[in-house]
Amino acid sequence: MNSLLKSNNSFLKPALVNKLFLLMLLGGLISGCTSVTSTETGNISAAVAPKAVWTMPAESSAKSYLLTCESDYEKARGLLTELSLSGKKFSTRELLNAVNNLDIVLDKQMNLAGLYANVHPHPEMRAAAEQCEQNLVSLISEISLSRPLYNQIANVDLAVLNQEDHRFVEHMLRDYKRSGVDKDDATRTRIKALNEEINLIGQQFDKNIRDGSRQLILNSVADLKGLPQDYIDAHQPDAQGKIILTTAYPDYFPFMQFAENDELRKKFYVLFRQQAYPENKQVLQQLLAKRYELAQLLGYKNFSEYITEDKMIKTPANAQSFIDKVSLLANPRADVEYSELLKRLQKIDPSAKKVADWQKLYIEHLVKKEKYEVNSQEVRKYFHYDNVREGIFDLTEAMFGVTIRPWNTPVWHESVNAYEVVEKGKVIGRFYLDMHPRDGKYQHAAQFSITSGLKDVQLPEAALICNFPNTLMEHTDVETFLHEFGHLMHDLFAGVDQRWVYFSGTKTELDFVEAPSQMLEEWVWDAKTLATFARNDKGEVIPPALVKKMVKARDFGKALWTKHQLFYAALSLGFYNQDPATLDIDKKMALIQANYSPFGYVDDTYFYASFGHLNGYSSLYYTYMWSLVIAADMHSEFLKKGLRNSDLANHYRETVLAPGGKKDAAQLVEDFLGRPYSFDAFAKDLSKQ
Ligand SMILES: [Zn+2]
Repeated sequence: MNSLLKSNNSFLKPALVNKLFLLMLLGGLISGCTSVTSTETGNISAAVAPKAVWTMPAESSAKSYLLTCESDYEKARGLLTELSLSGKKFSTRELLNAVNNLDIVLDKQMNLAGLYANVHPHPEMRAAAEQCEQNLVSLISEISLSRPLYNQIANVDLAVLNQEDHRFVEHMLRDYKRSGVDKDDATRTRIKALNEEINLIGQQFDKNIRDGSRQLILNSVADLKGLPQDYIDAHQPDAQGKIILTTAYPDYFPFMQFAENDELRKKFYVLFRQQAYPENKQVLQQLLAKRYELAQLLGYKNFSEYITEDKMIKTPANAQSFIDKVSLLANPRADVEYSELLKRLQKIDPSAKKVADWQKLYIEHLVKKEKYEVNSQEVRKYFHYDNVREGIFDLTEAMFGVTIRPWNTPVWHESVNAYEVVEKGKVIGRFYLDMHPRDGKYQHAAQFSITSGLKDVQLPEAALICNFPNTLMEHTDVETFLHEFGHLMHDLFAGVDQRWVYFSGTKTELDFVEAPSQMLEEWVWDAKTLATFARNDKGEVIPPALVKKMVKARDFGKALWTKHQLFYAALSLGFYNQDPATLDIDKKMALIQANYSPFGYVDDTYFYASFGHLNGYSSLYYTYMWSLVIAADMHSEFLKKGLRNSDLANHYRETVLAPGGKKDAAQLVEDFLGRPYSFDAFAKDLSKQ
């Protein structure tokens, strides 16, 4: 589970950002959100792997990229035209293959566009990617509203299909209905226009976040008091004696955790929550309004009702009661944790009546250091980025019997590394690691799918896009790394034995998709696993006694973390669960924060403006907590039979990961556990004192 530390950056575990909304909205024709897999091969150092870097001038590469996009657009349009010819009869096999071919083309270009828009170093390429995406969205929207294609699919005789094909057709029909294919011409025209407008607005929202970073300017090294030496060394004063910190994670989180100066922490906190403000306030209002209009046109009360319908949770009411159920469960322990933080704060400031949000990380660090003897500054010395990466690769290899080796291929930036995953002598997937911050890049941590794997057709490919320091990492960063890597593995393993793009990769219900990654986080708390890679610069392995203390300290803050997550979940649900015409987003945010988090709202902060999930996940942030319930249950099986039990790991891979979207998530979990999932393991963990 997650520590309080993570609580602050917890919203930065997006997972699968690739246009989830679009894929869900437009239904089955494109399935798209996936993850990729990777691991590594142990002794070949990635850092010295030969690699070619894309060196084409930005402008010409943007032009040639757009030409490729256009050519695939035309190819897809040709396929659609063929499929829509009236009177043309296809056999079921021909029809499903043709739909799959359409998916292959669109999935790949949409994924690439999503990736480039978020990571490409050249602004021209990022803009070109957005343009490409917008054209594709228009076409996908047309496909999702195409009566002729719908009729072809509706005419398929379900009775003669095998289970997998039956599910494929049934889901497409469901998705078609959800797209509005049965609406009249005028409504369908408006729906198509709305799909395009929503995509553009969403692009703007994301772009404002990417470009919205802020700076904290310090006047002297004394302002860094409390921070580790490597951080101080990396932030030398400039010619004017100023030290410039940015809101990028490697600058921000250590400062919030270690800086002694309360006033500066508050200042930085406020700056962090002013990213993309005020620009994104209006953009968000437009996004909410358009999605509301769309949901109403499709016959739903609001967008939450629409978007939860095909998830495990089914309705916004279920999501809300789940949030409240977990909140009640967390309350007793959260109260205890909060009073402990307050008591510690009062040692610094005897007049303190409450702990503010900007003090949370710092005070928690002190409590963990003093009460549990876990000094985060000691801990981080064992987590150099290179060792961590190697350790995560090793873990994957040991669990699943694969090897990872460098892959010599062009990459989009010199800091990006590429790898191949090999099993029984055969490459089964490929991936990229783009792990450190730079200007104009996606600011959180996520997994981006590139190619959906199809047996004998194409290998799965994906990328991890993160913002870690390339030197010492916090333990919580290590956890995030492994989390994202879990998405990669899921995407890869679910792209090996697939026929349909629709099911390939992590295309399960979105409110399940975090569970495998969340479960994997547990391994960074396992002393045996840590012993394989956590070494300081003298080569000394992390002492088992320290890991023991870390595990003990880990539970402290868990309930507060949970409450804060519920604030995000309730915010995401609450913004989409009503008529936006009557919504005051500032008021609503402050209210929800006060309802769920004991750390109240801080004046002049606008967290929603940089809360990227409000676009990509819309009202589905509850997903993270919901998946955690399932992750805890699945983890209990590993606790019983051994964390590094490769038989169990392979059973897990076969039953939960490899099928991708071929079964309902609840069924996948039941296949693994031999019984339906339950709330018990999660509840037990959260309520223990
Ligand atoms: Zn995730």
